[in-house]
Amino acid sequence: MAFIYSFTGRPTEHGHGKDIMLNLDRDVVIVGAGPSGLTAARELKKAGLTVAVLEARDRVGGRTWTDTIDGAMLEIGGQWVSPDQTVLMETLEELGLEMYSRYREGESIYIGADRKHTRYTGASFPVSESTAVEMDKLTAILDGLAAEIGAEEPWAHPKARELDTISFHHWLRQNSPDEEACNNIGLFIAGGMLTKPAHAFSALQAVLMAASAGSFSNLTDEDFILDKRVIGGMQQVSLRIAAELGDDVVLSSPVRTINWEEAAPGDETAGHRVSVESDRATVNARFVIMAVPPNLYSRVSFNPPLPRRQHQMHQHQSLGLVIKVHAVYETPFWRENGLSGTCFGAGSLVQEVYDNTNHGDARGTLVGFVSDEKADAMFELSEEDRKAAILDSIAEYLGDEAKNPSVFYLSDWGSEEWTRGAYAASYDLGGLSRYGKDQHTAVGPIYWSSSDLAAEGYQHVDGAVRMGKKTAARIIAANDRAAQPVA
Ligand SMILES: Cc1cc2nc3c(=O)[nH]c(=O)nc-3n(C[C@H](O)[C@H](O)[C@H](O)COP(=O)(O)OP(=O)(O)OC[C@H]3O[C@@H](n4cnc5c(N)ncnc54)[C@H](O)[C@@H]3O)c2cc1C
Repeated sequence: MAFIYSFTGRPTEHGHGKDIMLNLDRDVVIVGAGPSGLTAARELKKAGLTVAVLEARDRVGGRTWTDTIDGAMLEIGGQWVSPDQTVLMETLEELGLEMYSRYREGESIYIGADRKHTRYTGASFPVSESTAVEMDKLTAILDGLAAEIGAEEPWAHPKARELDTISFHHWLRQNSPDEEACNNIGLFIAGGMLTKPAHAFSALQAVLMAASAGSFSNLTDEDFILDKRVIGGMQQVSLRIAAELGDDVVLSSPVRTINWEEAAPGDETAGHRVSVESDRATVNARFVIMAVPPNLYSRVSFNPPLPRRQHQMHQHQSLGLVIKVHAVYETPFWRENGLSGTCFGAGSLVQEVYDNTNHGDARGTLVGFVSDEKADAMFELSEEDRKAAILDSIAEYLGDEAKNPSVFYLSDWGSEEWTRGAYAASYDLGGLSRYGKDQHTAVGPIYWSSSDLAAEGYQHVDGAVRMGKKTAARIIAANDRAAQPVA
């Protein structure tokens, strides 16, 4: 190998002030201090292994980020917790974090294909009887497929290839002649979850999304999928774990190079050697976890290069794009009008709106989402025109009062160098059935862990935590095997 190990036994530092370079020896180095990487580090440490977490940003939390903008606390990234996300809920409890329910009293607003504005209650959109029948039919088919195929290994199902080689857009139209039904059902997965146009991913990818949340019906039920929020914000999960880990987390330290050497045959793990170079540290270890979204794997130079299969697979996983819109008002004015703040319009610029008022806050906050091609169009406008277009769209649901928020902020994850999109990664057409079986395969000492690779909780913080735990368990098992005396 072309690099030198420095197993000094203790950390060494050289340089001055901000430029101090750390030289660390650990059992496991974790790239990325999002919820997945930090959970893995916490579990490994509990099992007695030493860790270092190297984070590119000057903060932990990754795609969870709770910040104060113009005096308002905003969840710039992930925030909601649903009842099936039990592993995240266990972590919240362990960390002493509490949850609260989203405001949901009153009527919701639906804007249909005819631009008609209707107030309604309950989980079903106020569509014509024939569209309702078609929506129920599509929901039943997707629920059936999600139950049959599951989230663990969708690529292994006999129907995988067939479903993975048709776009979700065309699959919907193969199953229903009703355009409004197709657009509404499409919204829950395309604009609503994968944040890509429905023609850009497969029906199998849509089934995975549904199965990962328990069923497709769960995705359509906002009382389920957007059930609870964390008091103080979702980033607290990462902040609290990082506080436990202390100096083992190194911020502002993007990993640039991973030098690795596979264990010799018969020496399953103890012989693995990894040297991870970041802007502030070099860590010598025996295992490395890439706890970053797959679209960023190629930001790191692997030496020797990754195998062909990984090179190919990683080019087929990409992040979607969504603008999360935050608008804070002096009061939650919609409530006085008997409205919950929940609004849907598959054909509207802002496709979904919810009451996102913070716990104990007298002001009212709305959150909305502008997804995929509509988001592209917004970024072609000036800042002023973009704001006006987005507020006009919210006002179409909730009235002109919506046009004058005291705080207005757009989460723009596409511009974030260390994420590059939102919410998470999905495969292009045919990618899931072709590559899925290898997405968890370790390459020598290199393991992969992020919400983008999760089964249950896929794309969500719960999936990130589940992946962190699973990956830590795999490494602990490999480490234990290596510690067994040779017979
Ligand atoms: C706008 C938005 C809304 C969302 N809403 C929800 C929601 O309501 N509920 C929900 O459950 N989920 C939601 N999500 C998704 C959720 O936030 C993510 O699934 C979760 O944060 C993923 O965690 P992770 O640890 O896998 O990856 P990340 O959170 O992306 O963490 C990866 C970390 O790796 C770091 N990194 C990248 N490259 C390098 C490198 N070379 N060297 C060192 N560090 C590196 C990054 O800076 C980052 O900190 C939302 C996401 C977004 C963006």
